[in-house]
Amino acid sequence: MVRDNGSRSKNPPVLKAIVIGGGIGGLTCARACLDQGIKVELYEKRDFDSMLSGPGGIFIQQNAMRVYELLWGGSIHTHLYEQGGKILKGGFFDHKGTLLYLNSPSFVQENDLGVCILRPELQKILYNSLPEGTVQNNSELVDFEETTEGIRALFKDGRVAIGDLLIGADGLYSKVRARLNGKEKQESPIYSGMCCWRGTFLASNLPLDKRYSWGEFWGCGDRFGYFHVGGDRFSFYAFRNTEAGGSDHLAGGAKKVLKSMFSHYTEPIPAIIESLDEEMIYRDDIFDRDPPGVQWGKNRVTLIGDAAHPVQPNLGQGGCMAIEDSFELVKQLVISENRCKDIPSQLRRFEQSRSQRLEKIFTASRQIGKLGQTDTIIGCFLRNWIYRLTPTWLGDLQFKWLFDYQPKSQF
Ligand SMILES: Cc1cc2nc3c(=O)[nH]c(=O)nc-3n(C[C@H](O)[C@H](O)[C@H](O)COP(=O)(O)OP(=O)(O)OC[C@H]3O[C@@H](n4cnc5c(N)ncnc54)[C@H](O)[C@@H]3O)c2cc1C
Repeated sequence: MVRDNGSRSKNPPVLKAIVIGGGIGGLTCARACLDQGIKVELYEKRDFDSMLSGPGGIFIQQNAMRVYELLWGGSIHTHLYEQGGKILKGGFFDHKGTLLYLNSPSFVQENDLGVCILRPELQKILYNSLPEGTVQNNSELVDFEETTEGIRALFKDGRVAIGDLLIGADGLYSKVRARLNGKEKQESPIYSGMCCWRGTFLASNLPLDKRYSWGEFWGCGDRFGYFHVGGDRFSFYAFRNTEAGGSDHLAGGAKKVLKSMFSHYTEPIPAIIESLDEEMIYRDDIFDRDPPGVQWGKNRVTLIGDAAHPVQPNLGQGGCMAIEDSFELVKQLVISENRCKDIPSQLRRFEQSRSQRLEKIFTASRQIGKLGQTDTIIGCFLRNWIYRLTPTWLGDLQFKWLFDYQPKSQF
């Protein structure tokens, strides 16, 4: 993390940040603040147990792992590698199992592309990186107001928190974002046209191809992916084009729905589905929002992660962007000569510095989603044919820039 070399100001005033939301973004941001001597209070509306829960696994790719290498003396990074599974060789296949694109970490001169880990394990590692008392659960923000000296956050139960700045890390339906725009509730996000099932399974006795740590199989309007999350554990996801608001209940449950949807896919997909525990399958509709441009906060308030820029999950980068945001936000705060006075301009500089990369991620996520969810026979044939004929080095180019991010500072 950025170190203050002391050349600008021997004793800069101690800032206090109020972070709303205990997801990946909020917890990471709190750790980044503490590493830089910024006081932090984090408020999360959910109770402790549900804050540490979450469906299936998540890719924390090398761009975000570089942030964790710098936070908390590298301990988060170490724990992630200890508990998760390395992202090694993997690829896209058609539904019959023909390889369309093979990806190996050597294309970015790394030994791995990061770590895949179960969400509850990631949440716990992040939570454990914070001193006791930093996170306050059962604390739902309802509003905030600026004062001459700072910001007051107001909670549903009448509590008030006072700080120098407010960071909204409160996800897709961010209340902070709504209040920034003078609304009670945010307008609905944009439905992607697809829903997603997620969950975990054990690899034992399943015909997984040991050469790959992840794989995604493309059908026509649906796809199925799985990835190693450490030990004998794997996580899966399945997408299908469908109306928003669907449910598996009337069709006999998620497992039955998945079985019939993917019965024509090659092994190991049907075997994986057969091994699933019905209770552990989660279904969500997938949304994003248009990129927020070069400025999304006001005065002493900013947003990070999904609160500012939710993307479709096709690149596995939404959470990684929240992690990058956390680093870049704190970096801007500590380079200020007069930390307290400059907060609004530092926050705007943070937003501006992120906008180009976020827009690129948004566009690429939608493009990959469109390809993966192609649902006409001719469209699928052409997509698969083009991918099969594209040289690997050219395929790599569409992903290489994701890993260019280096969380280093020049000062
Ligand atoms: C199917 C799927 C697969 C994905 N796969 C990946 C992947 O592999 N890699 C990746 O990087 N990303 C992935 N993502 C995206 C990733 O999950 C999100 O981008 C990430 O969780 C966003 O983190 P966040 O902290 O910004 O928001 P969230 O995780 O949504 O956290 C927001 C928190 O704020 C709390 N909150 C909300 N309102 C309030 C309030 N008023 N007061 C107090 N607290 C409040 C919520 O309870 C919640 O805990 C995936 C997403 C989906 C849907």
